[in-house]
This record gives sequence, structure tokens and C-alpha cells, in this order.
Amino acid sequence: MLMRCSKKIFVTLFGCFFTISVIQAQIATNYQVGTWYQFKPAAVSYTFDDNCSNQLPIAMPMFDKYGYKMTFFSVINWASGLWPQLLAASKNGHEIASHTVTHTDLSTMTVANQDVELKNSQATINTNITNAKCVTIAYPNCNIGDLTTIKKYYIAGRICSGQIVAATPSDFYNISSNICGNTGSLQTAQNFNDKVSSALTAKGWCVFLIHGVDGDGGYSPTQSTEISSHLAYMNTNIANYWIGTFGNVVKYIKERNAASLVETTISKDSLQAVVTQTIDSSIYNVPVTFRRVMPTGWAGAKVYFKNTLITSTTVTVSGTTYVMFDAIPNRGNNYIVNTAITTVAAPTVTTPVLYCQSATATALTATGTALKWYTAATGGTALTAAPIPSTTTAGSTTYYVSQTVGGVESSRAAIVVTINALPSAPTVTSPVQYVQAAVATALTATGTSLKWYTAATGGVSLTAAPVPVTTTVGTTNYYVSQTVATCESPRASIAVNITAPVIVTIPLKAGWNYIGCPISATTALASALSSIWSNVLIVKNLDAFYSSTNVPALNTLTEVVWGQGYYVKVSAACNLDWIAR
Ligand SMILES: [Zn+2]
Repeated sequence: MLMRCSKKIFVTLFGCFFTISVIQAQIATNYQVGTWYQFKPAAVSYTFDDNCSNQLPIAMPMFDKYGYKMTFFSVINWASGLWPQLLAASKNGHEIASHTVTHTDLSTMTVANQDVELKNSQATINTNITNAKCVTIAYPNCNIGDLTTIKKYYIAGRICSGQIVAATPSDFYNISSNICGNTGSLQTAQNFNDKVSSALTAKGWCVFLIHGVDGDGGYSPTQSTEISSHLAYMNTNIANYWIGTFGNVVKYIKERNAASLVETTISKDSLQAVVTQTIDSSIYNVPVTFRRVMPTGWAGAKVYFKNTLITSTTVTVSGTTYVMFDAIPNRGNNYIVNTAITTVAAPTVTTPVLYCQSATATALTATGTALKWYTAATGGTALTAAPIPSTTTAGSTTYYVSQTVGGVESSRAAIVVTINALPSAPTVTSPVQYVQAAVATALTATGTSLKWYTAATGGVSLTAAPVPVTTTVGTTNYYVSQTVATCESPRASIAVNITAPVIVTIPLKAGWNYIGCPISATTALASALSSIWSNVLIVKNLDAFYSSTNVPALNTLTEVVWGQGYYVKVSAACNLDWIAR
């Protein structure tokens, strides 16, 4: 067993490598082929088994409302009487495919009997469904039969193991589906929505398997209200999903992997693309979506098939513009013709861009496609990136930017970058002197829109000019800037010095002394003479008198004044400390 597994893995890896290299070699440069139709990120198929009676009258109109195509895996013995309706459905794009004649589990039958089931079911469908070929099968009970026999009639077979199918399945005869309805976990619209979301994540293919609808007696019925709600969700999110029949998705995958595209130039305005494949074009006949990078100098493109204009779209993916179109391989030539070269408008810019000198600048911006930046109005070579203005020097510089759409470059829009010079620092007086405990006033400076700081650089400005605190001796630096035309100047510094008070000591003799007052402010007598107050007997001058023995109301001298002289009588020799401020 181990030996067989190892060998198989080796062969598979080699096969993948070989396939990839062939694909890359087959598609012309500048072209991409869509993993799914119209480059949708994921594919979804809705398959209905067993011809349950509500599938055609109730489910199908819900899909037809949006143009979504279903697959009906029909059991021949259960489809009698339904052929006119199934034919009409097929003509509307739905797929009628095989679910055998008798719905017998193939794995329980002889190979010969399997051949009868596989051949006759296909033949009966092809007889009744005259507009299409039956090419896919769903195995009864999801059990595959004899692979060689199945391959004689069908290009793919469906099982129901509940997985999302890879973009390129490893085995087209074991395509997984997800059983819906009340026997499992896929019952509500939300369950369906979550399942397709997982396919979107995997960029893969989600195949739903539905039997009964509402109360039609079919296996594992699904409520039509949930199907309807889910289809409304798909309609909202259809940009993410290609909804295709089981057979068409199989065909698409095989064609996409087998396709070759060769391009030849007819003229500077016209290219020819030829899509071919080596697989059977009588079966593999669905359109495959290609896109080509818009050629340089082209403003747009039209696509013709055999001289008839066909639908194409211009798409931009990751900054690259493409023309996208469908082609069925082996049908002939598609011509891609340039539309008239048109003028492309210059990008939208904001100008002028203002900076203050020495500020940190960011790269210039503009709104447009494939921007190119220049330092000249015409000519010159585009810069490698959007320029970042230098703010070293005051002055103005003009930059230019163009956009390129469909290979056509626009005229250039100008952006003037002006670097405003910084104003000088405000004029200040420094240092500011205070004696400890003095009453301080707010600092001042001369300038416009002053901002005060406690730091030389950085930090947040104060809400107002600071008032120095004088409680502690020392020096504190404050900083102030001015702002002119949004540009803030460097900061001027103001040192605030708080100095200790000066004490003048005068020795007094017992008895009368004559002293002058050095205190700058009027001071209460007891406070001014606090250093000798216990010795003071009398203080007087020509105007007023104090005696320590008087009742207070008789003392007319209650305070001393700067510069005046006083007679002081003390009871003993002592030192008078005047605290000069
Ligand atoms: Zn069945």
C-alpha cells in the first residue's frame, strides 16, 4: 500500500509541474486567462437530483428570476412525462444530465450492467434534449462505479463528500458536492451563504446537491424560502461568484487549462488573438474569459469576433488596465481594435503646499492613475517616486505630476511648495530678579502670538504667561516663542533668579539709639523690630510715639517706613536684624 501511494504521489507531482509549464507557455505575453468565467473569484453550481416534483415548478423560477442556471441530474425511469419541461429548461440554459436509468448503486452492479445504465441514460437524454449533449453524471448514492466504463460516456462525475472543489480538480470523476436539506448541516440560507463564502476564500468551486423541495416527498427536503433567500444573497454578491451548471464549470476548467492564445499585430491600432485547444471542441464549447494588458498608447479597446463587435470590458487590477473578453476556443479570430486615442485630464492636485522652514515634510500627493512626478513643466525624466519637499531653505519650488490612463499620459499639473521662513525669537529681558517670598508678576516678552514653555525644546505650551514662584531660592528658566503665519519661531529663554533676602545687623546699646529703616515697604513695627522686640521700651519720631507699657490705644507709632529715622530705647544691649527687601 505504501509503495503504491508513494508512486502515485510522485506521478501526480510530475503531472502538475508539467501542466503548469505548458499553460504558461501557451498563453501569449500580456494575456491572462480567468480561473473562473469573467475572472470571478469563485464558482458555484446548484445540482438537483432524482426529479423531485417541486424542482421544476417551485425551485426553477427562483433561479430563472436572476438568470442562474441549474443542473438536473435526471433518473430516466423517474423522468417520464417531464421531457417537454426539461427540454424547455435546457433551451433556457439549464443542464439536463444523467443520474442513471434505474438509480441503482453502480458499485453493486456488474460492469456490463453499469455500461447499460450509463449508455442508455445518456442516450435517452440526448434523444429528448435535442439542443444539448448529456456529458456529466451524478452517481446514485454518490458511489462511483467502473471508471473505465464511466469515461466512455462522460467527462465528469459527481459524488457528495462535502468539500469545496479546487480550481483544477485532481479527479474530474470524483467532483465533491454538498448535500442540502434536513438530513444535514446545509438547511438555511445562512448555511448556504457560509458555504459559498468558504469557496470564495478557497477561490474554488462549491457544488450544492439538492433533492426534495418543500413537501414534495423527495429525500432531504430543502425549504424553498431558504433557497430564495440564499439566491437573493447571491444576487447581492454576484461580483464574487460565477454561477454555472455542473457541466459548464467542468468544461470551463478543462478549456482554460488546455487553451492556447497566440497574438499577432495587425497594425499599431489593431491586434489579432487566436484561441485554440487540442481537446474536443464538439464537447468543450463554452466561452473562456481572457484579458489583455491595454497596449501602450491605447485609451481603450473594442473586441470583434469575425468582424462583429462583441462585449468586452475595461478593467483595472492592481494599477494595470486590461481589456477583458470571452472567446470559445477553435472558433476563429478575435480582433482587438484600439478606440480613438483621447486626451487624458491632468491629475487633481492641491496647491500651494505650505511648510515652515525646518518642518518635517511628507511626499506630495495627487489624485489620478499611474502618477508620474517631474521637476519640470515639460520634458525631463519622471522621478522614481512622489517627491518629498526639502524645508531647509525658505522659498518656493514647483513640482509637476501627470497621470497615465490606457497608455495615454496626461498633461502635467503643477504643485507649488512654499517654505515660509521662521520668525526670530521674541525679545525678552533676562534675568528677572526676585527676593525670596516677594510677590511676583507674570513674565513678559515682545512678539506675536506668544507661546510659553518650561523646556527649551519639545513639550506642550503653557496656557498663559507663567508667574514665577518665589518660595524657593534658585534659578528657573522659562522659554517663549512667537508664531507668524503659522510658523513658530525658536524659543527665547528667560532666567528667573530667586535670591535670599539680605539681613543688616545693627548693634544697639542699652538706652536710646537712633536708627534708619532700610525696608523698602511700610512694615508693621513689631514685625520690623521682631529681632529685639522683647527689649523695646519706647520708639518715637517727631510724628508718633510707642511705649511698651502703654495700652495699645495710646500708641500712635504702629509701623515703620523706608528711609525714615526712629529713636529706639531698649532695656539692654542687643542686635537689631533689619531684613532688607
Ligand atoms: Zn439520487
